[in-house]
Amino acid sequence: MAGQIPLVDYLVLDDGEPHLVAHECTQCGARFFDRRNACASCFATEFKTVPVATEGTVRAFTIVTFAAPGIPTPFVAAVVDCGGTQVRANLINVEPDPEHVRDGMKVRLATCSVGADAEGTEAIGFGFEPAA
Ligand SMILES: [Zn+2]
Repeated sequence: MAGQIPLVDYLVLDDGEPHLVAHECTQCGARFFDRRNACASCFATEFKTVPVATEGTVRAFTIVTFAAPGIPTPFVAAVVDCGGTQVRANLINVEPDPEHVRDGMKVRLATCSVGADAEGTEAIGFGFEPAA
């Protein structure tokens, strides 16, 4: 077993259930997934790492039918509200059409393998799937 590595550094796989973590501004509470030197809202420079809820609600989505070569289409790019944190991610395990995807639908975090290297180390990405 060569193990698994997360595709992005804000996806945590080795601490209980898979979940996302965000950098939260200690001044105003704004959350960011990328590393920042200063908060975009208040320009404070102190951040703490916080776990993000794994269940959320679709706030907006786009069904993408054209993408770079090698990327299967169509797929659904969405903004998911996870307990107040806005997460940009693809919806997975759902038919990518307007009959199956709608604003306000309940979704939950899901991980998926996006490939493995020669040693068998698996890269793990994430998306959101409909919550049962
Ligand atoms: Zn701030």
